[in-house]
Amino acid sequence: MNIPLSAPDIGEREMDYVRQVLQSKQLSMGPWLEQFEKQFAAYSGSRYAIAVNSGTSALHLCVRALEIGANDEVITTSFSFVASVNCFLYEGALPALVDIDPVTLNLDPQAVREFLRTKCRRSANGVLIDRETGRVVKALMPVHVFGLPCAMEELMEIAREYRLLVLEDACEAIGAEVEGRRAGTIGDAGVFAFYPNKQMTTGEGGMITTNDENIAELCRSMRNQGRDTDGAWLRHVRLGYNYRLSELHAALGVAQLERIETILASRAEIAREYAELLAGRKELQLPEDQPGMKRSWFVYVVRFLGDSPAALREHVRARLREKGIASQVYFTPIHHQPFFQQCFPETVPSLPYTDQAADQCLALPFHSRLSKSEIQTVCDAVTAALETMPRIAAPSEPVQDVAMRAMGT
Ligand SMILES: *Cc1c(COP(=O)(O)O)cnc(C)c1O
Repeated sequence: MNIPLSAPDIGEREMDYVRQVLQSKQLSMGPWLEQFEKQFAAYSGSRYAIAVNSGTSALHLCVRALEIGANDEVITTSFSFVASVNCFLYEGALPALVDIDPVTLNLDPQAVREFLRTKCRRSANGVLIDRETGRVVKALMPVHVFGLPCAMEELMEIAREYRLLVLEDACEAIGAEVEGRRAGTIGDAGVFAFYPNKQMTTGEGGMITTNDENIAELCRSMRNQGRDTDGAWLRHVRLGYNYRLSELHAALGVAQLERIETILASRAEIAREYAELLAGRKELQLPEDQPGMKRSWFVYVVRFLGDSPAALREHVRARLREKGIASQVYFTPIHHQPFFQQCFPETVPSLPYTDQAADQCLALPFHSRLSKSEIQTVCDAVTAALETMPRIAAPSEPVQDVAMRAMGT
């Protein structure tokens, strides 16, 4: 048996549209790109949508368009995919990593406030400075982790109060909603990604959403070698990149977006089935709904509880592996990544809830075409593994105490 972690949902429509591109002979910068962007803007409810060749490229262009650069700092989470921080490093900016909410696993507004209140000061000319690094604190980047939107109302309020730009990493959250508003359309700019493990895919691809015409035009120009918007092909007015999305990719995007509601609905249904089959195990914490939030199911991540969750997780992973069932540790926090530690050997951020989540989380196989019997097989294997764990440690210590200890209080 072989149950992969994820799989793209590709059907006849995708084949048909890609074939049409191949027959059209226009393989880049054509009508499919335009249609994909138009459709995406309408779907997300943002004025502009700019397609690029990856989520990482989309993040990078937003960082440039928002003029986040050397000497700047952006408040964000370590509990994310590495691109969420790399996009700042490209431009010489640094992340100011603050802790997550232990329930939602998203950037904690309280922790953001705490950082701003205790670690920052206003300079004489009103610029917000990180006292420790001397850098300008310019922006806030919420990441809607695992498709669950961040507490955007509180974060936007903080951003207004401190005059911070807001860049939303919505790469895992297409279709997610906060109080009826689409994740990725609330801040100054938002970013989506279409790698094959995402809810919808273009093979490789990404999208920028914004209501700001200036940001939109800058991103359009920079993705296409810094060409002016008047379209003169060999006139380059700013530093640009080749972050274009080909017509083949855009056609895939159009097909996927036309079916997105169905895809998201089947993912939600699969999550529901997992929840039903895994309910009631004291060693497991399952993903929970949050009031006012509509999650877009990106991955199905369970959390192992008890004294040594990482050991229990390894035990379960090994049993799953023996049965040909894939699983993945999602996420290894960015500040634990070798590259980050190499870059900042002195920096050891105190992020107790992030570290805790790092030990607890495991993603199970999850995609829109996972069959009922495959879900059953995965859950049986998880359950059997839990029952064969030598000395299963029961949850003994409230999360709060772990955090307090790690903070040395
Ligand atoms: C997928 C993802 C990205 C970008 O991914 P690409 O592979 O560059 O498309 C960025 N941030 C997060 C949180 C992601 O999950």
